[in-house]
Amino acid sequence: MEKRRLGRTGLKVSLIGMGGIPIQRVGREDAKAVVSAAIAAGINFFDSARGYTDSEEKFGLALGLQRDDIYVATKSMARGRDEMARDIDASLHNFKRDYVDLYQLHNVRTKEELKRVLAPDGALAALRAAQLEGKVRHVGITGHIMEVLVEAVQTGEFETIQFPFNAAELEGAERLLPLAEKHDLGVIVMKPLAGGALRPAHLALRFLLDFPVSTIIPGMDSVAQIEENTALAEKFVPLTDEERNELQTEIARLGNRFCRRCEYCQPCPQGIAIPTIFTFDGYWSRYGLKEWAAERYWALNVQADACVECGECERRCPYNLPVRDLLKEAVSHFGATRPQA
Ligand code: SF4
Ligand code: SF4
Repeated sequence: MEKRRLGRTGLKVSLIGMGGIPIQRVGREDAKAVVSAAIAAGINFFDSARGYTDSEEKFGLALGLQRDDIYVATKSMARGRDEMARDIDASLHNFKRDYVDLYQLHNVRTKEELKRVLAPDGALAALRAAQLEGKVRHVGITGHIMEVLVEAVQTGEFETIQFPFNAAELEGAERLLPLAEKHDLGVIVMKPLAGGALRPAHLALRFLLDFPVSTIIPGMDSVAQIEENTALAEKFVPLTDEERNELQTEIARLGNRFCRRCEYCQPCPQGIAIPTIFTFDGYWSRYGLKEWAAERYWALNVQADACVECGECERRCPYNLPVRDLLKEAVSHFGATRPQA
């Protein structure tokens, strides 16, 4: 597996890394098997978050003893110094490590939040203190909102940047890749498959391999996914014109109203699993798997028609999706399939 320099951290990371969201879905033994397969396939960069329930813990369990050639990264939504200091210690405990290779400020969404983390009593101060104590080696930032990330990069405080970049979402790359080069930042690509919306996966990943990024971190929760994704990076073949056209057709089919499954809209006060419903609706409307999708939709504890239109989710969605309208579309699709009581 090709290793690339993670900007001025100097770490040499695998071109395909492992995102830590899906590992939450599998049991501990399966998590171990997936992580072992990842290491065997040459993956040496594992990215988690305090917010991903037991993801750090599972990585800690599966990765075993600390090794200098396996890098763990995590991130926290803490914005204040004390809160961040507690999160750093919690991450070390979960990973069972003396230090985290890369600690990131997670999803900094507004310029006010950026100001808050940079303040003397902000989260960055805790990260700097942890660096002095040897608990954290490098500091980065993640986010979805380009204006905020551009400003963050220009502060010169961060060594890496993580943002969504895929064939259907190019804005981040256009604005941030030149800046990353200028500031010698490591570039970590999240949502390479647009949160699972972009298919076929092998075309979407090969599209990205051509760009000057450090590591691409699809979330993976099976050995088969590890093998498929790492094989693409092993024998990189640029897309043919025909394959580019196929990808463009897929992007046009998705439109710009697709959910990236980032989960920032959660929790809904009504208990609606918004991204899950959008996933099932995507299967219904984009892939023609109506029966399959309906069965799963009706197995959920709460359906889309429980929405009381409070708008809370839309205020939190970094993509400004019209969540309420999209839920109504789901109701109109699935309504007629309601199982008989
Ligand atoms: S608008 Fe509907 S889906 Fe969104 S948070 Fe409110 S109740 Fe939940
Ligand atoms: S609706 Fe928005 S916030 Fe919620 S998962 Fe989808 S993209 Fe993310």
